Amino acid sequence: MNDVIDFEVIDEHGPQSYRGTYEMNATELDRPEVDGVGAVTIEVKAEKGYQPDEYVADGAVTFTADLTCSRCAELYPFANTSPFHVRFLPRPEASRENEEVEITDEGELDVEFYSERTIPLRELALEQVQLSIPMKPLCDESCLGLCPKCGANRTREKCSCDESIVDERWGALKDLRQELEKKKNV
Ligand SMILES: [Zn+2]
Ligand SMILES: [Zn+2]
Repeated sequence: MNDVIDFEVIDEHGPQSYRGTYEMNATELDRPEVDGVGAVTIEVKAEKGYQPDEYVADGAVTFTADLTCSRCAELYPFANTSPFHVRFLPRPEASRENEEVEITDEGELDVEFYSERTIPLRELALEQVQLSIPMKPLCDESCLGLCPKCGANRTREKCSCDESIVDERWGALKDLRQELEKKKNV
């Protein structure tokens, strides 16, 4: 098992493939929406890039997690395989930062600066898991969330405040329309 992407090895022997499975702790992910995370598997191929001292890594992370829905606050199971492409470039010296760093706008490519010529596979996996967790996790696209009045989960139960909330919203919209009309007529 090779747990470290080593640029020296790539220089000497060409492209290298790696695979690892790691246990991770929800707290390591530093995202309050994550309640738990299962084993994370990473598969990656790393090779030299086009620029001097540039290396590129192509791969995917596969993991499962328990996430908190951002609308209804309930836990739901999340399973994901997300592909990634990372470019590693030498960390520029602070004084020359502006002239050295040239990030072409190949939008989908993530650039990371390295100061050591080894990248622990587990670290790369952790970063990629962090990036694949949705900013606003949803148990379901159609999750109706909690009733702002009584706190009921509106996906599961229909509370009696539903109607009046809808009415209020329409009312607000009507007021807004009237405002706009008034402005137009000025
Ligand atoms: Zn939900
Ligand atoms: Zn309600």
